[in-house]
Amino acid sequence: MIVPILKYGAPELRTTSEKVDAFDGELEKIVQNLFDTMYGSPGIGLAAAQIGLNLQLATIDLSVGEDADKRIILCNPEIISVEGEQKSDEGCLSIPDFTDTVTRPLKMTVRGFNLQGEEFTIDAEGLLARCLSHEIDHMNGVLFIDHLSPLKRTLIRNKIKKLAKAGEW
Ligand code: ZN
Repeated sequence: MIVPILKYGAPELRTTSEKVDAFDGELEKIVQNLFDTMYGSPGIGLAAAQIGLNLQLATIDLSVGEDADKRIILCNPEIISVEGEQKSDEGCLSIPDFTDTVTRPLKMTVRGFNLQGEEFTIDAEGLLARCLSHEIDHMNGVLFIDHLSPLKRTLIRNKIKKLAKAGEW
């Protein structure tokens, strides 16, 4: 089911998420909603916080639904190591129509749990590392614009304020 994605300004996006502790049918439904909503946007990653759920949970799929093997369900992630840097344009489904250059780790090793509660480790590089870093940020109430210079951040905030005033946010 496609559910509404919270936009910048929603307090839920600034909340630190709690660990998933029940790997049950309810979690399965939430994950399905995350995938449906992410593909409907379309996007390559969506964190539970973005649909108002206070859970350390995100779905990622760099193939945007083209390749089932690319689906990642990430619960309770822990960053094991980071290496290098990459700079690239980045956006967020919660800050639609805004993108900017964000520096992220080039490589990242992350440990997490899947839908069945089984532990796994991902060695990610490039876009997947960027995506993991972005989604883990969401679980800590951090948004990509927090990585920008104060000036750029203020410019984006002011544009959003104007849109909100016009009822377009
Ligand atoms: Zn995002």
